[in-house]
Amino acid sequence: ALTPNARLNDPNDWNMYLGGRKQWAHKGTYGHVLIIGGAKGTLGAVAMAGEAAYRMGSGLVTLTVPESQHEALAAKVTQEMIWSWPGKDHFLPEIAEELKTAFQRYDAVVCGPGLGRFPGEVRFIKEILQTVKRPLVLDADALNILAEHPHLMQFRANDCPTILTPHPGEMARLLRITTEEVERKRAAVALQLAYQTRSVVILKGRYTIIAFPDGKRVVNTTGSPALAKAGSGDILSGIIGSLLAQEIPVESAIQIAVYIHGRLGEEVDAHSALYRDLLDHIASIRQLLE
Ligand code: AMP
Ligand code: MG
Repeated sequence: ALTPNARLNDPNDWNMYLGGRKQWAHKGTYGHVLIIGGAKGTLGAVAMAGEAAYRMGSGLVTLTVPESQHEALAAKVTQEMIWSWPGKDHFLPEIAEELKTAFQRYDAVVCGPGLGRFPGEVRFIKEILQTVKRPLVLDADALNILAEHPHLMQFRANDCPTILTPHPGEMARLLRITTEEVERKRAAVALQLAYQTRSVVILKGRYTIIAFPDGKRVVNTTGSPALAKAGSGDILSGIIGSLLAQEIPVESAIQIAVYIHGRLGEEVDAHSALYRDLLDHIASIRQLLE
């Protein structure tokens, strides 16, 4: 059900952001997205997010994994660039400076897909929160780290948009309540986290709620159970990162991303669809909105 101050997003308004690709565009024109994540066993997550970002129009996509995973990821992806952070499967404080310079190069940053947990993770997230001056999307284990160390949000550079994309389980950990409670009061808890963290909160699930720190809430109605499969969230974070890197205003970029992601789920077979089947429909859904 729609809560009193919820309003539906209006796809008719989005053509100004999704119009034709500029004739004189070069690969920098449509933004450079950085996706941070990927650990042994979950490298596919960054790969899927990266593909989704390219499919959504980004000109450049870089994936960042720990150095130990560089070769494995390189064998997997083709169009994405890889920049791996030194250190085996842990973060070394002495590379903080290197990370700082590196993180400044991107138009939007997504942190979390397949990230896993590792020694030094708190410092790692802190550096990212502090250093990234562009829109920053936190997903998956980046959210779990944040849940255990709520003080980390203090380090987020002021006035830089932060977007949190929890599923109900991650949301429960962030607010230290049960998943059932999250599901009972979806709109209210999304807004609570948005206020607390001064971030945009995307509470995922059937009827995803988008809550803004100024109190606005949007309920998304697109989607299907085809999305109830590993990888769906990674695709969403890649789509969000891509639209943010294209400098679409944050509020619109997020609504467009969530809407399109849901529509992808409506275009595929509910049982059998793989991530690439979803990605194959980005073109047609996007064209409908142009
Ligand atoms: P994650 O759990 O992080 O992989 O994210 C799953 C994504 O799929 C989110 O965007 C959810 O909103 C979406 N999703 C999962 N199950 C459903 C469902 N039954 N109906 C609609 N969307 C879903
Ligand atoms: Mg997820």
